[in-house]
Amino acid sequence: MPATQRGPADPARADALTPRRTIEAMDDYDVIIIGARCAGSPTAMLLARAGARVLLLDRATFPSDTVSTHYVHHAGVARLASWGLLEEVLATGCPPIERVAFHAAGAVLDGRPPEVDGVRTGYAPRRTELDAVLVAAASRAGADVRQGASLRAPLYQGDRVAGVTFAEGGREYSARARVVIGADGKHSTLARVVGARPYRDEGVQGCMYYAYWSGLPDEGFRVHTGAGCTVIVIPTNDGNTVVAVGWPREAFGRVKSDVEAHYTEALRQTVPELHAALAQGRRESRIVGDGDLANRYRTSSGPGWALVGDAGHVKDPLCALGITDAFVQADLLSRRLTGALGEGSAAIDRATAGYAAERDQATSVSFRTCSALAKGEMPEGLPEAMKDASGDPERVTEFFGLQAGLLSFEDFLAGASRS
Ligand SMILES: Cc1cc2nc3c(=O)[nH]c(=O)nc-3n(C[C@H](O)[C@H](O)[C@H](O)COP(=O)(O)OP(=O)(O)OC[C@H]3O[C@@H](n4cnc5c(N)ncnc54)[C@H](O)[C@@H]3O)c2cc1C
Repeated sequence: MPATQRGPADPARADALTPRRTIEAMDDYDVIIIGARCAGSPTAMLLARAGARVLLLDRATFPSDTVSTHYVHHAGVARLASWGLLEEVLATGCPPIERVAFHAAGAVLDGRPPEVDGVRTGYAPRRTELDAVLVAAASRAGADVRQGASLRAPLYQGDRVAGVTFAEGGREYSARARVVIGADGKHSTLARVVGARPYRDEGVQGCMYYAYWSGLPDEGFRVHTGAGCTVIVIPTNDGNTVVAVGWPREAFGRVKSDVEAHYTEALRQTVPELHAALAQGRRESRIVGDGDLANRYRTSSGPGWALVGDAGHVKDPLCALGITDAFVQADLLSRRLTGALGEGSAAIDRATAGYAAERDQATSVSFRTCSALAKGEMPEGLPEAMKDASGDPERVTEFFGLQAGLLSFEDFLAGASRS
């Protein structure tokens, strides 16, 4: 049966309006992936390394920046190491982050996050650097990488997604595949056109703005809460430091009306010593940000399609988990698909459904923590437990395990009764 175009974004209608449009057919693939950043490129790389024929599309051309600060937790660094990409990321010059300090509820927790797979160091590579390394790795692994290529619509065979049409360099192409993966971010086009439904949707809880500064001392990853906002400070490439401010969602309209004034005032009130240090440093970028910090899951598997990274599950960046989550999911999805690609459609759909269930389980604790912190909800006993933990390096490490999604609130609070 030939693959056809249909669905909510019906390109047949566009055809009627532009009758001279021609679509060039490409070779068939095993997998087509839309989006080539933290979720898409590693998924493409891992599947291509396993022998799959992979087409990886992104409308961006790399190196390309995106609105995101860029702390990678130990679990994410461990993935880069296991894929053989850590040295390449470090060669971009991002400094090691050995120390994390969290100032909240009258407590200062200063220490080291837990070790994961032998990794005891975090990094915050600029997205221009990190994403370019990931795209290059996918290409080296044998994926057919098309940059500046935008998804137009899925192709269907019956009810099954069986490929895509995409635009690149003023031309339009069609390509067929056994499975199409949306790694196209939280505003995923693929999710919309296949009708992927949200669940566990905790809504938008905050907004965040940040800029890059030079001339600041490297004091590791620092989080300061207070004065109706959270300030996050992260050392990154080129001797620069990301200084970010997060506010609750209600503040978005006010902050947007004069970002510079609110950003500066939040720093002055929340971390006066940092505000003073900025006067000696230099701002190296505009202040950029995002007011759509969603917290939700979407159905992430269906006949012939799957979603990975923010396309399928997104959370507030307060816990800085999106990149690490994307890496972990790339691993889960590619492992499940690798065996199934040699079998029929039913095996592929079982593999993507299994991946989606495993992802939900793997992110359940961190989702609850992130949404509670983003809503400003501290579970009963947490402020006291944080104060008690502050002088105890082991308890401080456990607290950072909570922030990294490795421990639940209950686990952390149970530790308080032990100590
Ligand atoms: C303010 C802010 C701060 C953050 N800070 C951190 C942090 O410190 N640490 C952390 O881990 N996470 C952080 N995050 C979250 C992190 O940025 C995301 O979780 C991560 O980028 C998700 O990666 P992804 O590959 O799923 O999607 P994205 O990075 O969104 O990439 C999607 C890609 O798909 C492409 N695409 C989209 N539509 C199409 C189309 N139709 N055709 C072709 N290509 C398409 C886009 O061009 C893009 O390259 C932050 C986010 C924000 C907003």
